[in-house]
Amino acid sequence: MKKYNISMDMEKCVAPENCDLKCIKTCPLKVLAYYPTDTSREDSPVVLIATFPFLCNGCMLCVEVCKPKAITVSTPS
Ligand code: SF4
Ligand code: SF4
Repeated sequence: MKKYNISMDMEKCVAPENCDLKCIKTCPLKVLAYYPTDTSREDSPVVLIATFPFLCNGCMLCVEVCKPKAITVSTPS
């Protein structure tokens, strides 16, 4: 299976909750996830991660739905 590199620029993804976490909801293979950075706060900021990058099929749907262009999916060189 082809492997893909998934990177997320959290400086561009400034308010994931405001975009309704579109990338996570769009990914057909549930590759992406998020976690709170401060579990003591209900309104904690969140960080996105590629939890299961080996499952990625390179469909680019997450890239397409991300308006600030925070996600890059590429094949290793
Ligand atoms: S779609 Fe883009 S802006 Fe929205 S949570 Fe995902 S990476 Fe962040
Ligand atoms: S490229 Fe497709 S399979 Fe890979 S993380 Fe994005 S939406 Fe999921």
